[in-house]
Amino acid sequence: MEYDKIFILHQNIVHFPHIITSADATQVPFSFCLELSVRSVAEDRLGLEKEREKRGMDFLQWKAFPILVLLASFLVFYFRTSSKPSNSECSLLPHDHFWIHSKRIVTLEGVISGAVEIRGGNIGSIVKDKDQHDKVLKGHVVDYGEAVVMPGLVDVHAHLDEPGRAEWEGFYTGTRAAAAGGVTTLIDMPLNSFPSTVSEETLRLKVEAAKDKLYVDVGFWGGLVPDNAFNKSALEGLLKAGVLGLKSFMCPSGINDFPMTNASHIKEALSTLADYDRPLLVHSEIQLDFDSTSELKDGLDDPWSYSTYLKTRPPSWEEAAIKELLSIIQDKRTSGHQWAHLHIVHLSDASASLDLIKGAKSSGARLSVETCPHYLAFSAENIPDRDTRFKCAPPIRDAANNQKLWEALMDGHIDMLSSDHSPSVPELKLFDEGDFLRAWGGISSLQFVLPVTWSSGQKYGITLNQLASWWCERPAKLAGQELKGTIMSGKHADLVVWEPDADFVIDESYSIYHKHPHISAYVGSKLSGKVLATFVRGNLVYSDGKHAPTACGVPILAK
Ligand SMILES: [Zn+2]
Repeated sequence: MEYDKIFILHQNIVHFPHIITSADATQVPFSFCLELSVRSVAEDRLGLEKEREKRGMDFLQWKAFPILVLLASFLVFYFRTSSKPSNSECSLLPHDHFWIHSKRIVTLEGVISGAVEIRGGNIGSIVKDKDQHDKVLKGHVVDYGEAVVMPGLVDVHAHLDEPGRAEWEGFYTGTRAAAAGGVTTLIDMPLNSFPSTVSEETLRLKVEAAKDKLYVDVGFWGGLVPDNAFNKSALEGLLKAGVLGLKSFMCPSGINDFPMTNASHIKEALSTLADYDRPLLVHSEIQLDFDSTSELKDGLDDPWSYSTYLKTRPPSWEEAAIKELLSIIQDKRTSGHQWAHLHIVHLSDASASLDLIKGAKSSGARLSVETCPHYLAFSAENIPDRDTRFKCAPPIRDAANNQKLWEALMDGHIDMLSSDHSPSVPELKLFDEGDFLRAWGGISSLQFVLPVTWSSGQKYGITLNQLASWWCERPAKLAGQELKGTIMSGKHADLVVWEPDADFVIDESYSIYHKHPHISAYVGSKLSGKVLATFVRGNLVYSDGKHAPTACGVPILAK
């Protein structure tokens, strides 16, 4: 009877690769057993003689048994451990080749009516309806009608806080919120996680912590701190390990293991970064002597009023930092040394600081600057007492400043936008006390940046192409991601489909995917611009309130 069983097993194995799937691989031994016993009994009764004649052949099969078992084990192992989830797990759309049709596709040449071909995660071709002459597109077509199809947003400034402070946000909830908001790539900041990303080893911990949790693609900035600034081999280790650039602070960061840098740290890092052609991002505020600015003292006994907090971080802090940065660049240029691209994060002051930036740019400095939707959507006059959701650094300034920021963005003096999504646990926002001076500074916003920018930009007449430039094309360039940020043949099929005219209110019934939905300053806002669908490298990761079953975003490491 042993030989019968082996023969039957052999027959099954022949068909094994055709019938097995990763999901039912573990079931195979049971189906073997069942079939084995039924067939063995039948063959015993009907052909005992014949069986004896076949013994010679069966013996050969017996000799092949170990090889067959080995083959079967390999196949089971292969299907069970294959690391790439199938397309059906990564995407809500079961196609590898398909077309997205819309009457409003945002390309570098303008907004077109047509279709984008997606093949193997990349953009294959783009056809305009007027060139199609009623020819039918070959393959599956998803028609989004009048909804806008735009490159997915590239957010170069987000704090996902993992490892170490996943209770603040974490990769899983952060990237689900990103996907629901049309953000297809985000670059994680090196601080607010623990440890901070300041070495090759701590970057490795980041990447490990992100494993299997990413709904969108995530890159990482490394931290420039006094400890590594003069240690060229440590900085190079961090850059070689794959950070896309470095970030530093010119004032205390609020995080103990991320101390501030001074001009000589920055000067040193700009040289090292130049060798790798990666940027330095700087939080540009310098704490000026408190006593020299007497108006700061007024009203400090009222920590519940936003205006008190505003006075503690005046525009002169930003101006002082930017002045110092520009003099570092000037030194580098006159000395003939190579220097890296410098990027000023979250500019809030649209007066003297902005004038300095404009001047430096016009004289050819390698310099760019971002601002954030909260500086564009809110103004100090409208922030209620005790509402610490609005506390961030640098602070949201008055309505006149807000208008000047918009004008600078429209005129191209501000290059791009970023979320500076910086959540914490609700307790740190001190909602019960409403103390602006002691509450955690950081605005939670990631899921809403697209509709917020669109809604608050209406009165300035912003266009879809401007939006794509500020949120997609230019940030992708800063982060060195040439395959992202534009709808072009050969690029990653990272897309957001959204409805600019759809209004909604972020209220109790609205699905917010941040870890702590209610700490967002946008809860209670009425916005226009609803995200319908988000594609990351061709995978439909979010559609109409649903996420794909598996997180298939990847960590982005510079080479
Ligand atoms: Zn930040």
